[in-house]
Amino acid sequence: MSDMNGYPDSYYAATAVGVRNYPVLDDDRQADVCVIGGGYTGLSAALNLAERGLDVVLLEAERIGFGASGRCGGLVGSGQRMEVLDAEKAFGLSRSKELWEFAELAKKEICERVEKHHIACDLQRGQLVGVHKKSYLGWAKEMADALAERYDYPFCAALNAEETQARVATGKFLEGLFDSEALALHPLNFSLGLARAATEAGVRIYEGSRVRKYSHTDPAKVETATGSVTTPFVVLACNGYLGKLEPRVAGKIMPINNFMIATEPLGEERAKALINGRFGVHDTRFVVNYFRMSDDHRLLFGGGENYRSGFPRDIKKFVRPYMLSLFPQLEDAAIDYGWGGTLSVTVNRLPHLGRLSPNVFFGQGYSGHGISTAIFAGKVIAEAITGTAGRFDVFAELPIHTFPGGTLLRYPGLVLAMVYFTIKDRI
Ligand SMILES: Cc1cc2nc3c(=O)[nH]c(=O)nc-3n(C[C@H](O)[C@H](O)[C@H](O)COP(=O)(O)OP(=O)(O)OC[C@H]3O[C@@H](n4cnc5c(N)ncnc54)[C@H](O)[C@@H]3O)c2cc1C
Repeated sequence: MSDMNGYPDSYYAATAVGVRNYPVLDDDRQADVCVIGGGYTGLSAALNLAERGLDVVLLEAERIGFGASGRCGGLVGSGQRMEVLDAEKAFGLSRSKELWEFAELAKKEICERVEKHHIACDLQRGQLVGVHKKSYLGWAKEMADALAERYDYPFCAALNAEETQARVATGKFLEGLFDSEALALHPLNFSLGLARAATEAGVRIYEGSRVRKYSHTDPAKVETATGSVTTPFVVLACNGYLGKLEPRVAGKIMPINNFMIATEPLGEERAKALINGRFGVHDTRFVVNYFRMSDDHRLLFGGGENYRSGFPRDIKKFVRPYMLSLFPQLEDAAIDYGWGGTLSVTVNRLPHLGRLSPNVFFGQGYSGHGISTAIFAGKVIAEAITGTAGRFDVFAELPIHTFPGGTLLRYPGLVLAMVYFTIKDRI
């Protein structure tokens, strides 16, 4: 993948607004909190902490939004990654409602941030989930009814095949669920806007400043190749890019790679014929297909993933068949960009937040539902550091299992599981 100003060559990097160059950490500093990682988790934590009056340093190994936060599909779904019908079975109605409410607050926070900080990130409203197989028929109505009746959320409508296909021109969707209050956005521009807001609130951001290690002491010493930060609090916000920095949380997450393409501009008419409106779309597959139209009428399409450290050599070629399986009418459309990113999943797809010691906090494992969850994770970590741990503790108490085999043997087991679910998708 070629390089655009330190970012992968993606549609997002090509249309980035407000890229700033933050300095490299080249000295020994002090701070109230040191945040490691400049994606949504780290930026949200840093911004919320600075707004509460704390002196914050944020260290990013590469560039702001270099990780999943600057590469993702941009779809901000309602609720958690674990949907309410499953959460009710796992935790009961009351806890499920609480988690739903947190996700609603996360969407609200995103909208408020966009407005307050004037972030030009092409915020769209609405999301359609397309049902891809017969055995799921009826799910859309069950969800819409459950949300209206038990969650006070009357914004989802179950659509039959004809109504679904009137909105999205694929014969592959057997029915649909349209959520008029879900969101979609340009993920890199949202990250850059949050970084600007954090700087204006007093956060000192350093790019090109990879943390090599930090001491398990209070205060902690966080070290890069060229500097250090001595601090009473550390926030680990590295997610799928954590690597070997913190083995104590690495075994709870599995980094996986997911891929996207952007077509050439299709023109307003052709774009409207594909997606009738400006909203995000995904299907019900385990390896999910997700897409939306950019403001210059390109189809931004995500599909396909792998479970090793490298990306396919030709990402455009890798993703295009997923797009054509839904939209054969795009056979002639040129693919202008192809890129990939790394996210992390947990065994049960619940987010993994916690404390490693009284002064080290972390948030990770949002399992493909990371925009709203990471934004909220950053916020509740900031609340916990400033003495109000109620909402943080709700997440920290969620049961997160270690991957069988821990950090060493995670991959063979995961690959087997993924192959199994991918085959199930097709049945
Ligand atoms: C292709 C793709 C599509 C996706 N689509 C969606 C979607 O449509 N909707 C949705 O809700 N979610 C989606 N996700 C998931 C979502 O993007 C992530 O869950 C979310 O962005 C995670 O944010 P984060 O800040 O926790 O991690 P990241 O954004 O990955 O940020 C981690 C940062 O930490 C930095 N870092 C790592 N190690 C160090 C170190 N030692 N020192 C300093 N910095 C370090 C990295 O450089 C990186 O910038 C997608 C993910 C991918 C990859």
